Amino acid sequence: MNFEQIAHPAPVPGATRQQAIADPGFGKLFTDHMVEIDYDADKGGWFAARIGPRQPITLDPAAAVLHYAQEIFEGMKAYRHEDGGFALFRPEANARRFNDSARRMAMPELPEELFVESVRQLVLKDRGWYPEIEGGALYLRPFMFASEAFLGVRPARQYKYMVIASPVGGYFKSGAPAVKIWVSRNYTRAAPGGTGAAKTGGNYAASLVPQDEATAQGCDQVVFLDAVEKKWIEELGGMNLFFVFDDGSVITPPLTGTILPGITRDSLIALLRDEGLTVREEPYSIDQWRIDAGTGRLLETMACGTAAVVTPVGTVAGPDGEFTIGSGGPGQLTSKIRERLVGIQRGTVADGRGWVTKL
Ligand SMILES: *Cc1c(COP(=O)(O)O)cnc(C)c1O
Repeated sequence: MNFEQIAHPAPVPGATRQQAIADPGFGKLFTDHMVEIDYDADKGGWFAARIGPRQPITLDPAAAVLHYAQEIFEGMKAYRHEDGGFALFRPEANARRFNDSARRMAMPELPEELFVESVRQLVLKDRGWYPEIEGGALYLRPFMFASEAFLGVRPARQYKYMVIASPVGGYFKSGAPAVKIWVSRNYTRAAPGGTGAAKTGGNYAASLVPQDEATAQGCDQVVFLDAVEKKWIEELGGMNLFFVFDDGSVITPPLTGTILPGITRDSLIALLRDEGLTVREEPYSIDQWRIDAGTGRLLETMACGTAAVVTPVGTVAGPDGEFTIGSGGPGQLTSKIRERLVGIQRGTVADGRGWVTKL
């Protein structure tokens, strides 16, 4: 499919842009362009791929997404390498997951090549927005929603796929070396048979009240337990977890359908195994977490996801008190594995697995 190129009448002036990207924060600054592709089941599927000025979109007030939340998204980053070129990290995995999410939400799939091409086009078009700062990247947000004006409850017949881009710095405001997380006892994120494995906005909507609770408790993030026994650790609102033990083993919760299958998670499993560690995907309970942190059997806990990459968990707080992991700061393995992953993504460490796609 060809992308129509729509000229921007008034892109942000270079000086203003440079000033903005010197300290971009996370997700609040956007580039000049966006990608749009429309879908209509009655017109044979996807059509009218285009890249043009980023601007507000018009939606019918009856658009299905506004009522029944048929919406999915992806999150990925483009990195500038030392040779000046741009690279994506495992974009085909994002494309595949986007379609997994689409199927769960009864939405049409987008051909994987079209997904990757749409992201490529936007990165190259808005390359001038790349923030050349420590930890900087161009964060990409592909998403799709039901645009059909219809209030009956069934999968919509019209959708819009879009990609926007945001220059970003580090994810956590505090820039803290280790985060403090709050164990939510009142709320769960996903139930068996639900939408926990789909990257859909509703999961995030449901996480906002518990996240507020975490913030009110002086914590950075919330950790969710399983919805059935309220015992097994699942994940944070937007990050997967790894537990590192003193015998060279690592546990990460298994993908049973209630956890989002992170691409960072999958990559870390491979990198940790490269280090000679035994990684097991198995349930780990909140009680065991506290006990193992207390005895020192648990050395480190790390949270991972595209936005924050790999972040050490220093303190865990809940209604029954707090406990500290290791020294409460970044652990050795967390730092080492973070450097490896970031090195591969940024092209300073060899990529032996074909994870990096040069644009
Ligand atoms: C996106 C996301 C992650 C992390 O996935 P990555 O592919 O590593 O960025 C983890 N948990 C949730 C709930 C997510 O939405």
